[in-house]
Amino acid sequence: TLKIGLLTSGGDAPGMNAAIQAITLAAAHHKLTCYGFHHGYNGLINQDYCILAPDNVTNIIHQGGTILKSARCPEMMTQTGIKQAVSCLIKENIDALIVIGGDGSFNGMLAMQDHWQGKLIGLPGTIDNDLDGTDFTIGFSTAINTAINAIDKIRDTADAFDRVFVVELMGRHSGHIAFNVGVACAAEQIISFENFDPLAQESKLAKIIADIEQQKQNKAHSYLILLAENLWPGGAHALGEALKQQGNIDVGICVLGHIQRGGSPVAKDRILATKLGVAAIEAILLEKSGIMIGECESKITHTPLTKAIQHQKIVNDDLINVYDSTASHMS
Ligand code: ATP
Repeated sequence: TLKIGLLTSGGDAPGMNAAIQAITLAAAHHKLTCYGFHHGYNGLINQDYCILAPDNVTNIIHQGGTILKSARCPEMMTQTGIKQAVSCLIKENIDALIVIGGDGSFNGMLAMQDHWQGKLIGLPGTIDNDLDGTDFTIGFSTAINTAINAIDKIRDTADAFDRVFVVELMGRHSGHIAFNVGVACAAEQIISFENFDPLAQESKLAKIIADIEQQKQNKAHSYLILLAENLWPGGAHALGEALKQQGNIDVGICVLGHIQRGGSPVAKDRILATKLGVAAIEAILLEKSGIMIGECESKITHTPLTKAIQHQKIVNDDLINVYDSTASHMS
């Protein structure tokens, strides 16, 4: 019988457990043996694994995190590490490896491709939604719901004091989280990669200050600025400080951080993860390799790993238009 290896790598995302469950159950259904490697690629390098049988994956579909644990694995950035990982797959006679993770994790698979003849299948598991070849990544829907719930609470306290708040959101280098959350929370400002040039920092600051003053003159109310991470030099704290110093504005600052990665996956992530997990096993049975399984317009898709990591998936124009037509910003 075929032996399947499975690991979760990089930033964890809600729904990874649902994918692990689906892969384990579908593997059992097709009488394949499933090996779960622990702590990302470290599990291959350290030969740290367990056999995943249906009994091991009961009652996990609703849990955040990953029962296989995730990790960064710097050794994979070296030829020695890659060869160690591959030698574990060869020693255990693994026929196919499924990696649930983001673009970094997919690069790990591509690095192994030169040294291993087995099948390599990627599943998009990241809250950032920054992989091509799938409308949504596993974890994104939960992450935006978590951020929305948190920001609704911030809005309450901001409203009570007619206060300005800067909230920093995750997303690595894309604005999928920022724009979806911003529209869902009716943020007055969204500052993201798609609409902000870091070289135009000073003029942006001046425009925000002018807008806040203008709004105050009309009627005092809370004012929410959502900022994508890795964009404004110094992040939310630097932006908040600049507003205080240059605009004499009382600003609350909140970096939402890792709460966006945790929590029970929402229905959309559970269902997506389950569909993609089953499709991964089906792809292996069809002898596919070097691909990411995704879902576009409700259809399962196979995208070469090299294409999935190209960062071509832009934030939906309609969403940006909605923000442009409804938010209070002056630019
Ligand atoms: P997320 O974006 O959600 O954090 P990710 O999979 O992109 O997920 P990374 O930290 O970029 O997270 O990568 C996870 C792991 O993949 C790394 O710790 C490393 O083990 C492996 N990896 C990343 N890039 C490479 C590469 N170029 N070659 C080999 N392995 C890599």
